[in-house]
Parts: sequence; C-alpha cells; structure tokens
Amino acid sequence: MIIFYRSGEIFTGKPKSDLDGELYTTHADLCGCCGARGYFGGIACPICKGSGKLMEKRIRLYTHEQLRLLGREQAKRDEAKEIETSEEAKRERAEYEEQLQKFRQENADFVQKLDSLSGPHWDVFKETIFTRLAKPSKKQVHLVEAEAAKRAAGAANMFIGRVGEKTSLRILIIKVLRVADWHETTLLTVARDLSGALVMYRGDVNLGKTGETVTITAGIRAHTEFAGLKQTFIERPKKHIDKDIYVT
Ligand SMILES: [Zn+2]
Repeated sequence: MIIFYRSGEIFTGKPKSDLDGELYTTHADLCGCCGARGYFGGIACPICKGSGKLMEKRIRLYTHEQLRLLGREQAKRDEAKEIETSEEAKRERAEYEEQLQKFRQENADFVQKLDSLSGPHWDVFKETIFTRLAKPSKKQVHLVEAEAAKRAAGAANMFIGRVGEKTSLRILIIKVLRVADWHETTLLTVARDLSGALVMYRGDVNLGKTGETVTITAGIRAHTEFAGLKQTFIERPKKHIDKDIYVT
C-alpha cells in the first residue's frame, strides 16, 4: 500500500502504526545549538543533552482514501468560509451604503459642491471624505465652497455659440440701461444665460425688466472681452412667449 504525508508526498520509509491503527512516523530535527555534534569539547550540549538531535516528533501518515476524505472535508470548510466571508462583505457594504446615504443627506450642500469637483487633488479629498463619513470640518467646508465658487465663475465666463449663428437662449435679465448716442437712445440689456455666461444686447427690442427670465431666439453678433469677462453680443432678438416655463 502506498502511504502519504499530509501534503500528498509519498512516504518511502516503513510506517509505524498505533493502537487505533493510525499510521505515523517520527522525525527528529538536528540540534542547531551544537550543530548536531552533541558535545562542546567534552561538555554535553544543554539543549539536546548530548544526543545532537531534538525531541522526536510524531508525523501522521495517510492512506490514499484517508487523504481523499480529508481533502473533501477541507473543501467543504473552505466553501463554508467563503460563503460566510461574502455574506459578511455584503452586510458591511449595505451598512456602509446606509451610512453614506445618511451622510449625504445630513451634509447635502457640502456633498453637492464636493461632487461637482474633480481632478487629482479633489478625487483624493472625496475618497477620504466618503470613506471616513465624518462630519466635515469648517476648514474642509470652506475649501470646497471656495473651489466650487471659483469653478462656477470660470465655467460661466464663456462665450455662447459661434458668431453669425442663430440660437435659442433662456436668459435672466440683470440690467437694462439706456445708452445715448449722438443721434439716438438705445437699450443695452445685460443678461446671463442658464450657465451664467454674459449675454449683451444693444438695440431697440425690449427684452424685459431686471429680474425677468425670458426665452429668446437671436443671432450671435460678436464675442468681446472686457476686463477678463467674456461677453456674447446678440442681435435681432425675438422674445418667445412661454406659457409654462416661468423660472424667476
Ligand atoms: Zn545540541
């Protein structure tokens, strides 16, 4: 009969058998203290007491059938552990999701601004915040608000459309000025579209009063920049009468 070690390696010696019929062999490591010599110039090594070997260890041996059964049991244990691990992970995930939802609700304004930020630094910042889920500090809130404001201003400082193009715009009127030329007086309307970009119109059409939001169709007349502000001048605007979308 072929006999094996637990590892599956074949045992080539003569196995011993105990009273229960269990197969085993014994093995003694060499003594490291005296280098297996047993004596130091006539004095017995205190570790191995002169034998040069350490205590014998019993090493269990197996038949092929015993090994096969052991393997099956191990597989079952592994499987059970895997299921337990994945359920645990699921529970932890669900718990985290719940806490995350709570955190997002309790810090809605902060989170909304934070979500809008991206880039290497902000991605790490977000990761930290959403991992710890601790109430953001005043400094963190301030940092995020400052950056969001800076980005909003940058995003808004854009030209609209292409010169010569006709476009539809929804604008909030900021100011209406009367501008006197040497021979006539015209209206200068300053507005912002929904993204915050500056829209200017100089002409006779009355687009509305300050604070009004209107929808218009107009041609893009020119793109100009004044003191770093990008301004889109429109021409021949036509006001739409929208019955259902009043945003004021
Ligand atoms: Zn020794």
